[in-house]
Order: sequence, then C-alpha cells, then structure tokens
Amino acid sequence: MREYLASAGESLLMGRVSKGAKCSVEGCDKEAIRSLDSGKAHAAGLKFRDERRVFLCREHYKEYKKALRKDRVIERWRRLRIIH
Ligand SMILES: [Zn+2]
Repeated sequence: MREYLASAGESLLMGRVSKGAKCSVEGCDKEAIRSLDSGKAHAAGLKFRDERRVFLCREHYKEYKKALRKDRVIERWRRLRIIH
C-alpha cells in the first residue's frame, strides 16, 4: 500500500513526456517515456548527458527503478549490520 501511494505520487510529479523526447542516458537515443528530477535520477547511478531534466526510455526507467530498489535493500542490510 505504501509502495502504491509512493508510485502514485511519483507519477503525479512526473509530467507527461512530450512526444519525440529522447532518453537522456549517455549513448541511448530511444524515445523517452518518463521524465525525472535529475538529482533523483543520478542517485540511481546512471550516466546522463548534461541536462536539468532527465528523460528515460522504457528500458532505462526499468533500470532506474531496479537501481533504487537495490540501494534501499543494501541500506537496510547496513542498518541490520548484515554487511558493513
Ligand atoms: Zn535509454
């Protein structure tokens, strides 16, 4: 439920991507489906061409979500002192 609310809020914040916008990830020129705050996007460890507003294609958006999820898991492990 919490996760659902978070993603609902996220999609409200992230405006629709205008048609023809390209993915901002270095070396990728696929059509973007999502726009993100660049600070948040950089937290996922992806490399972008220098832009304030970051656009992601379907594949990179998936990668972005996965990266954030992984970070959260590692953070939890650290807190539980499973890893250091
Ligand atoms: Zn891409």
